[in-house]
Amino acid sequence: MHLFVPSKLEDYLLGEKPKVDCILCAIRDRDEKVVQIDVYRSQDMIISLNLYPYNPGHVMIFPNRHIKDIRELNEEETTQIQSLTIKTLDVLDRLYSPSGYNIGYNMGNIAGASIEHLHLHIVPRYKNELGFVDILSNSKIIVEDPRKTLERFREAYAAVAAGLVPANKLV
Ligand SMILES: [Zn+2]
Repeated sequence: MHLFVPSKLEDYLLGEKPKVDCILCAIRDRDEKVVQIDVYRSQDMIISLNLYPYNPGHVMIFPNRHIKDIRELNEEETTQIQSLTIKTLDVLDRLYSPSGYNIGYNMGNIAGASIEHLHLHIVPRYKNELGFVDILSNSKIIVEDPRKTLERFREAYAAVAAGLVPANKLV
């Protein structure tokens, strides 16, 4: 399995902290001050890699609208987030073959939400999971170029979304 080292991705994405009011709105608007890490867009939702990945394959789904609470999601957005969560699991199963997932929202600073713009985390979990330090010090892990990671994700989402291939036939 090809894993990327999260800190490499972070360096690439966050060379300098972008000076924008909201990083997710900036991604939505394709603001040139931020690196484009979105991998899929539906009518009202965007899926992007996580800026500070907890694990390889950590992605987030967020609405175009800058809202802060899941109770503000309208019916259409709720439907889209559900169907994009399912697509994401298909994509991640194929790309990373994780053993499980954590899926959830952090709302409010005290709950660990560093970005107030509502976003759903999807975090793949692995057997014998390595912490960041372990990953960094393990020379057997193959470092993948973050641009390549983005490309693989974008292709996988496009294929799943188009219904061109079953999820397990991707890549
Ligand atoms: Zn925002």
